[in-house]
Amino acid sequence: MASDEVMQGPWPPLNLSHGGKDAAETCWRQYFLKTYWTWGAWYNGRNSGNPARVRAYVLKAAMSIHSEPGQVVHKAAARLVNAAVSGRQVNQDKLVAWAEKEFVQRVEKAAKRTEAKASKKAPLLLESYYGVDYDTEAGLETIRNSINALFADDHIDRVEALGRGCIVAAEDPQSFEIDVDGAVGTVWLVPDLAYQAVLSDAVGPYHEITIVDWKTGKERDSHAKQLRLYAAWAFRQPPKTTAIGTTMQRRVVSVASYLSTYTVREATPTQQEAEKEVIALRNFARKLRDRVVDGDLSRNEPLLGGEAGKKAWPQLPEGSRACGFCNYRRLCNRG
Ligand code: SF4
Repeated sequence: MASDEVMQGPWPPLNLSHGGKDAAETCWRQYFLKTYWTWGAWYNGRNSGNPARVRAYVLKAAMSIHSEPGQVVHKAAARLVNAAVSGRQVNQDKLVAWAEKEFVQRVEKAAKRTEAKASKKAPLLLESYYGVDYDTEAGLETIRNSINALFADDHIDRVEALGRGCIVAAEDPQSFEIDVDGAVGTVWLVPDLAYQAVLSDAVGPYHEITIVDWKTGKERDSHAKQLRLYAAWAFRQPPKTTAIGTTMQRRVVSVASYLSTYTVREATPTQQEAEKEVIALRNFARKLRDRVVDGDLSRNEPLLGGEAGKKAWPQLPEGSRACGFCNYRRLCNRG
């Protein structure tokens, strides 16, 4: 960005998330297209404004077989948690059948949509858009294996035993604020399941919050970072007090549960370890602020094509793996 285009503040509020940081660190250009370029580029048929921005908006909302089984499995998990805390039984075969049907219907509907008809509520299927054969059976297998693993997950049994009052969050957005050099940064996260219990050890009672993240894909290094950020949120939750009014010690347990391989990665991060991820997010916010001109789209938009934009939002090299999974690969001449 040319130095005369850098605004010195006051800075607008920043919305931050692990997913956003992860995406930007993979490809800054993808982050710009998804987060800033599409903002306000609503799809409005004949009166559609900048066609490239409208296309980016449609592609942002597009879905892919690659990620869709995970979406459906998370919906199934939410049903299971709701039933567990309400004392209701869920039939495993019926839940699998519901999830399979949901997946097939979503994919079929999306595959029938053309770009012209797609919108955020009615996404198109990327595999159809790019003319790639898609493998519904592989998605169904992921769903079946993952739901079977959910039924074997002892965290569901624990919330069933603890009851509704134990839930801190379940698939609903949570946030906390951080300071970014005088600007407010809101950190957003969606824990799959966070539940609490008062337990006791030799020292006395302590307040434990367990955060469970169900994964349908492969293990990635960034998952541990994501869970440490969630732990930072858990350490910010209201404290519990003992019978004599003292604040109980907080213990946070983070669990990454890989459903397709029945692998569980459990950790008990300290508050200091969790805060390191907040620091990393703050550093990301600084890098972001160096690239975005004060959230003003009319000033940001020309940056993408100009020299400053190419520098701030560079393309990945031709043939990069991330481009193969990117919604914007045609827009970006990478597929
Ligand atoms: S196609 Fe590749 S270079 Fe272009 S935005 Fe996507 S990941 Fe980045």
